[in-house]
Amino acid sequence: MIAVSDAVTRLLSAAQTPSRAESVALDQSLGRILAVPIRAPIDVPQADNSAMDGYAIRFDDWRGEGMPVSQYITAGSQSQPLDSGTAARIFTGAPIPPGADTVVMQENCEAMGNSVRITASPVRGQYVRSRAQDIAAGTVIFEAGHRLRAQDLGLIASVGIATVSVFAPLKVAVFSTGNELAEPGQPAGPAQVYDANRFTIQAQLRTWGFDCVDHGVVVDDLAAVTACLQAAAGSADVIIGSGGVSVGEEDHIRDALAATGSVDWWRVAVKPGKPLAFGRVRQTPFFGLPGNPASVWVTLLILVRPYLFRAQGMAETAVAAVPQRALFERAGGSREEYLRVRLEADGIALHPNQCSGVLRSAGWGDGLAVQRTAQDIHRGDTVDFISYSSLA
Ligand code: AMP
Ligand code: MG
Repeated sequence: MIAVSDAVTRLLSAAQTPSRAESVALDQSLGRILAVPIRAPIDVPQADNSAMDGYAIRFDDWRGEGMPVSQYITAGSQSQPLDSGTAARIFTGAPIPPGADTVVMQENCEAMGNSVRITASPVRGQYVRSRAQDIAAGTVIFEAGHRLRAQDLGLIASVGIATVSVFAPLKVAVFSTGNELAEPGQPAGPAQVYDANRFTIQAQLRTWGFDCVDHGVVVDDLAAVTACLQAAAGSADVIIGSGGVSVGEEDHIRDALAATGSVDWWRVAVKPGKPLAFGRVRQTPFFGLPGNPASVWVTLLILVRPYLFRAQGMAETAVAAVPQRALFERAGGSREEYLRVRLEADGIALHPNQCSGVLRSAGWGDGLAVQRTAQDIHRGDTVDFISYSSLA
């Protein structure tokens, strides 16, 4: 069996950098991965401006007496050089007039007709937002490989850029295998189970920004599985199947792959989710995930996610684990376990049923706690917690 960290390392090195980039409008670029760095063409702000509504003065002109008000400068307007010994009425975001160096907030001023008296001693340079204090022209604000978040779109907009070059989304073919699988919305007999995995996988892929190609449910038959793999390879950049990866006579993925490509069978020391196939159907990368729905959830997040994001061009695919206090006791085992847990005010609580078939555990909680091989967890111990939101 190989360790989870080794499996991730191998997957990352197998992921090829995408070649297809496209230009998209900034407001359509959320969640996309930059294909080229973004360099600021301008300073932000482009000129010194006021951080307050108040009066702009030259600090050395201030004598503690009333000063004539010589200008009225609103945000968006131009300022004129400040006449010496005078103050300029100024508003937040308005340009500091040449010659002024200090802003006094209006709360510390008394306006008297056409002059103003400052009632509290100013500090030289106060409330001036200097040119380029946020970004200097020429600065790379985002490197290639960065996945764009809401605040990043704002920052790119703030330097005046409206179009970005991002990698074209990977197309991922998804199918489920199993004679027992029924489609939600259809009647299902007692020997059947509804297909959950295709819904979990495709929804998560869409959340991550990938395009899905739905190849439905395939029956447990070598010819049918082979045909599905062929069709999937023709339709997508990556293929993800679930079920049928064990070694029973009704598990056909292995033989179908032997006929259409190559595969490495990995026994990853992960629980849930031990059996995992990774290989190629013709040239198309293929993941064969276990059938059990909670195993699908964990392997998708822990193993498939870093691969897909790297293949999509993301530079840093690791997520931070945060230390949390365990509110439970649990003996360690021979594999690294990804426990479905819920975040509470004083720590993390464990879903009572950690079986690989119990998908309820995934929806009940807020993330995964990592229980290392042979690590006994006692109440109050610190354990690594990976939130679902950090994996989103
Ligand atoms: P398998 O890996 O095909 O032997 O499947 C392992 C277990 O997962 C069996 O109990 C299957 O019925 C169940 N299973 C497989 N695929 C799915 C699916 N798409 N949705 C829900 N359960 C599944
Ligand atoms: Mg099966």
